[in-house]
Amino acid sequence: MNPIEIVKQLKGFNDLFVQKTGKDYFSAYQESQAPIITLVTCADSRVQTDSIVEDATNKIFTIRNIGNQIYSNEGSVDYGILHLKTPILLIMGHADCGAVKAYMGGYSSEPASIKTELDHLTPAINGSNTNLLKTIVKNVNYQVSVALEKYAEIIGNHELMVVGAVYDFKNEIGEGFGKFKVVNINGDDKI
Ligand SMILES: [Zn+2]
Repeated sequence: MNPIEIVKQLKGFNDLFVQKTGKDYFSAYQESQAPIITLVTCADSRVQTDSIVEDATNKIFTIRNIGNQIYSNEGSVDYGILHLKTPILLIMGHADCGAVKAYMGGYSSEPASIKTELDHLTPAINGSNTNLLKTIVKNVNYQVSVALEKYAEIIGNHELMVVGAVYDFKNEIGEGFGKFKVVNINGDDKI
């Protein structure tokens, strides 16, 4: 699609949004935000928060990168946990993750910037088998373990719960297309 057309569509949609919302819609969070979840998820466009909440506004503090990684945006994750003090840190991987796939298939020909981003996946994925879904879950479990170590004190004080999940828009787990499957809570991956 022509980029000018895309921008026109955005403006048209926004005009309707401005009309239907108004001052009251925004009044609750004019001065500060109060999210309940810090979300670390993949940048993949097939993954959006409307699979878990109707409107993520002022509810989800979202950090996105390829492969839903903490170390790629550690400062932003820290901001959600240490400053906004969300009671939940949600790590949400997803079916058919291109970052995990790229890692498993080899990525030496990628530009340095992408290589660096994928290099962070080494402790999560290195030595993993060829099953993509299992490796995606393995990465989620690894990211949870990073969080458990980073925020051990806050978790110990029962002020934070770390949740690992997979958004399964391909129904590979077999519980429905679009299923939000929790795979780990505070390091317990037997759930
Ligand atoms: Zn992905």
